[in-house]
Amino acid sequence: MDKHILILGGGYGGLRIIQRLLAANLPRYTQLTLIDRMPYHGLKTEYYALAAGTESEAKLRVAFPEDPRLKVQLGEVTSIDLEQNMVHLLDGDPIPYDYLIIALGCEDKYHGVPGADQYTHSIQTMPQTRETYQALNNIKPYGQVAIVGGGLSGVELASELRESRPDLNITIYDRGESILNPFPEKLKRYVSQWFHENDVDLVHKANITKVEPQILFNHDQPIEVDEIVWTAGIQASRIVQALPVEKDSMGRVALSPHHYLEDYPHVFVVGDCASLPHAPSAQLAEAQGDQIAQVLLNMLHGEPLPQLPKIKLKGVLGSLGKKHGFGVMGDTTLLGRVPRVLKSGVLWMYKYHLG
Ligand SMILES: Cc1cc2nc3c(=O)[nH]c(=O)nc-3n(C[C@H](O)[C@H](O)[C@H](O)COP(=O)(O)OP(=O)(O)OC[C@H]3O[C@@H](n4cnc5c(N)ncnc54)[C@H](O)[C@@H]3O)c2cc1C
Repeated sequence: MDKHILILGGGYGGLRIIQRLLAANLPRYTQLTLIDRMPYHGLKTEYYALAAGTESEAKLRVAFPEDPRLKVQLGEVTSIDLEQNMVHLLDGDPIPYDYLIIALGCEDKYHGVPGADQYTHSIQTMPQTRETYQALNNIKPYGQVAIVGGGLSGVELASELRESRPDLNITIYDRGESILNPFPEKLKRYVSQWFHENDVDLVHKANITKVEPQILFNHDQPIEVDEIVWTAGIQASRIVQALPVEKDSMGRVALSPHHYLEDYPHVFVVGDCASLPHAPSAQLAEAQGDQIAQVLLNMLHGEPLPQLPKIKLKGVLGSLGKKHGFGVMGDTTLLGRVPRVLKSGVLWMYKYHLG
C-alpha cells in the first residue's frame, strides 16, 4: 500500500532523514514530499558570515536531492492538524500524510523585551540574514553596532564583522559574567583576549530592558547605536509551539525515546524543534535524524523498533574571523588556527557529502 512521508523543513535534520531514507531500501510504494519555504538547503551555521559580508549567499545554498521518490514542494507551512493527519500551507490545498517529520527549526526568543522583535536584526533565517547584511554594511563609517548575546553565534558574528568592517565600533552585550558562558575558562579567556586585541567591546552582566529605533536600553540606561543584532536566545518554530502537546521552556516538543510524539507514533520531531538533553545544534539535528531514519525504516518494513544508543556529540567548533577559532572536543580545548581549519574542514565535508 502507498505510504506518504511528509517532511516539513529541509534544514540539517530534515535533509539528513531524506538522505538516509533515499539511500536505504525503501518499500516500493513509498513517496516522500519535502515542504520548505526556500528552494534550497541553507547552511545556517554560516549565516554569521553572510551577515558580516564575508561570504556570498550562493556559497551557503545547497540543492535538494533529485530523486523520483522525492517531491519538493515550495511553500510556507502555517499549521499542523495532528487529528486529521494534515498540514496546512499559506497557499494551496492541505497535504495529508501517513508519516510526518517536523523539522522546522527555530526562531529568535526575545524574552519579553519590548521593541526587541521590531528594532533588532536577526540571523536565524536566510531572508532575515540578508537584511542584517544590508543593515550592517550600510552603516556609516565608524558607526556603532550592538550585538545582544555573547553565545556562539554572537561571538562568531562580532569577530567576522570586525574583519569585514575594521572601522565599526562593535559591542557585545552579554548577561553572564563572561561571553560563551558554558565553555571552559581557558577558552573564554582566549576569546575575550581576541576581542580585546581586535577592539571589540564586551559588556558583561547586561540586562537589556527595552529597544527603541537605534536605542538599546541596558539596565534602563539608553545607548545610541546605528544597528542592533539579536543573538540572545532561540525557541522552537511557532508552528511547533502551537501543537497541543507537551513542550519545554524553549517550546520544543517532548518526545518518546524513539523521537515520535507519545500520542502520535507516526509523527517525528527533529532538530531545534525537539526537546533533547543537549543544546540545539546542527550536529544534534543530524545525529537525531540518523536515528529517526532507522526507526522509520523499521516501521515501514514492519520490523520491531531498534534499540537506540544515547546521542553522543563530537564537540563544538567556533570561529574568530577567518584565521582563528576555538573548540571543545571531549576534555580537550582547542584554540587558535587548528580549530579554525577544522571548522572549515567540517563545512567542506558537509557540502561534499551533499554533492
Ligand atoms: C549563526 C549561527 C551559527 C551556528 N553555528 C553552529 C555550529 O557551528 N555548529 C552547530 O552544530 N550548530 C550551529 N548552529 C545551530 C544550527 O544552525 C541549528 O541548530 C540547526 O540549523 C538546526 O537544524 P534544524 O534542521 O532543526 O533546523 P534548520 O536547519 O533551521 O532548518 C529548518 C528548515 O525549515 C524551513 N522552514 C522553517 N519554517 C518554515 C515554514 N513555516 N514553512 C516552510 N519551511 C519552513 C527553513 O527554511 C529551513 O530549511 C548555528 C546557528 C546560527 C544561527
